[in-house]
Amino acid sequence: ALNQNLAELAGRVEVSFEFFPPGTPEMENTLWQSIDRLSVLKPKFVSVTYGANSGERDRTHSVIKGIKEKTGLIAVPHLTCIDATRDELKTIAKDYWDNGIRHIVALRGDLPDNSRKPDMYAADLVSLLKSVADFDISVAAYPEVHPEARSAQADLINLKKKIDAGADRAITQFFFDVSTYLRFRDRCAAAGIDVEIVPGILPVSNFKQLQRFAGMTNVRIPGWLGNMFEGLDDDPESRKLVGASVAMEMVKILSREGVKNFHFYTLNRAELTYAICHTLGVRPAVACVA
Ligand code: FAD
Repeated sequence: ALNQNLAELAGRVEVSFEFFPPGTPEMENTLWQSIDRLSVLKPKFVSVTYGANSGERDRTHSVIKGIKEKTGLIAVPHLTCIDATRDELKTIAKDYWDNGIRHIVALRGDLPDNSRKPDMYAADLVSLLKSVADFDISVAAYPEVHPEARSAQADLINLKKKIDAGADRAITQFFFDVSTYLRFRDRCAAAGIDVEIVPGILPVSNFKQLQRFAGMTNVRIPGWLGNMFEGLDDDPESRKLVGASVAMEMVKILSREGVKNFHFYTLNRAELTYAICHTLGVRPAVACVA
């Protein structure tokens, strides 16, 4: 029965992987090794983040181009609208379309400071992209509510706006409390949001870094997670094993709850993500020998 369950799962679950443009030649090596290792899992797409600093778009684009050329996978750039004019965004979108990019992760981006109201939100970017071409569009969703949202309900209405503007799926901020995601998915369905709410999974191997990250994002770190990593500050090998086991447990529950698409924040590392995918039945195709 166990094998049967695994066989049922294999081929049903689809995954996507997120990377960021590397800052040094050493990080560049790690990135391409990771892409190489993960590409055999035939992800639905791989995405590359986009930062607000100038020059970042070029770095995003060059990684996207490299992924397309080296792996043939669907390479998906993230695009933010916080630091660009509408005309600039239209030019970027046309350029992507002309270069065969059909899928974009459309985001607002973080405000440099909270003093001014943004000219555009992600929903406006979705409309702008759709006005340029019929892109496949993913947007961000926040099971634990975006830090700037007036309320959870306002944030949900904003997500609905992004979907109504033409987005095809939402990818969530990472989370550790599976029930928070499941409740959020229910609330989306009740609000008439009928696209896939793809859970964003962050395999944790550096708990201290996670604490810094989470503080900026409103993501709650449950006490049990802190306990799991306690005493392992100087033991990176054990931290990896613990991090993998936490994420494996999460995806197991999520897949039992009917989740079929998972997005992994790889942090440009392959090891944990590869192993977690393996337990989901996502594996390299093996040639059949008669
Ligand atoms: P929006 O959907 O526009 O929402 C932003 C906030 O404004 C929310 O609180 C919303 O409720 C509120 N809001 C929306 N419309 C209005 C309105 N009309 N009036 C008042 N309030 C409103 N950042 C990067 O810089 N680069 C990346 O590559 C990147 N990738 C990401 C990928 C994923 C999957 C996720 C989840 C996040 C990513 N981010 C990235 C972070 C993201 O840019 C920030 O979280 C940002 O603060 C919000 O972006 P958004 O697209 O969710 O914005």
